[in-house]
Amino acid sequence: YENRDGKIWMDGALVEWRDAQVHILTHAMHYASSVFEGERCYNGKIFKSREHSARLIKSGELLDMPIPYSIDEIEAAKYAVLEANGWTDAYVRVIAWRGAGEDMGVASNKNPVRMAVAAWEWGAYYGDAKNVGAKLDIAKWKRPSPETIPTAAKAAGLYMICTMSKHAAEAKGCSDALFMDYRGYVAEATGANIFFVKDGEVHTPIPDAILNGITRQTIIQMLKDKGIIVHERVIMPEELAGFEQCWLTGTAAEVTPVGQIGDHMFKVGALTRDVAESYEKLVRS
Ligand code: PMP
Repeated sequence: YENRDGKIWMDGALVEWRDAQVHILTHAMHYASSVFEGERCYNGKIFKSREHSARLIKSGELLDMPIPYSIDEIEAAKYAVLEANGWTDAYVRVIAWRGAGEDMGVASNKNPVRMAVAAWEWGAYYGDAKNVGAKLDIAKWKRPSPETIPTAAKAAGLYMICTMSKHAAEAKGCSDALFMDYRGYVAEATGANIFFVKDGEVHTPIPDAILNGITRQTIIQMLKDKGIIVHERVIMPEELAGFEQCWLTGTAAEVTPVGQIGDHMFKVGALTRDVAESYEKLVRS
């Protein structure tokens, strides 16, 4: 995958895809000093682009790793990549990290903060599940406390348990894993937020130990605009059996219906379909 044609933006300039390499002594490789964004471009426009750039800068601040670019500069880099590759519909990955430098230990202030933007064509994140409903495993790992790690940052270090949980889920024939948090509350999937429906009302976890996804916020507003009541509240795992519908939201996942979590089945109902269609319309409008 490294050796292909295309352009990637790195530290201020477009470089050949195959030349977008980093040194093995990169601080981020050893100590997870890395933050990133996942975005989607539809019809030539990146959905909520500035919000994503702002979150990247915020994630950098949370990791004591100030990103040396402004929102406008990050915006320009993303569109430069899309244009250079000739894409109007693509997934965009922006990543910032501590590079190699004088600091070889845990401290990293002497090492430059670097940034790159890559893009590629990426279809439905959960494949077929987008239509029939994803099957979720319950993760063995717990989403950590915000006193343990900055959970509001979209930081590489938080994804270690995501990769492990997703591997375990896939080994059981599931599309993804659902995390409980450190308190045992229903949290989120490995790369998406979760929503439930009961008696025509929507329930979703409070974003205090999960990523407050940009898609999540978009969907909550959309539901409110439709006159649907949304409860952001503590959700206990025992409640899963009482919900009728369930879906995941995320930039990559978009709105993906969930058909099963552990032993609990959900129907891909009218509200789920409606929200998925409305989101599709919104991102392309
Ligand atoms: N939670 C996690 C752990 C994620 O990785 C993502 C994807 N960025 C989300 C939620 C959804 O966030 P967004 O809607 O901003 O893509």
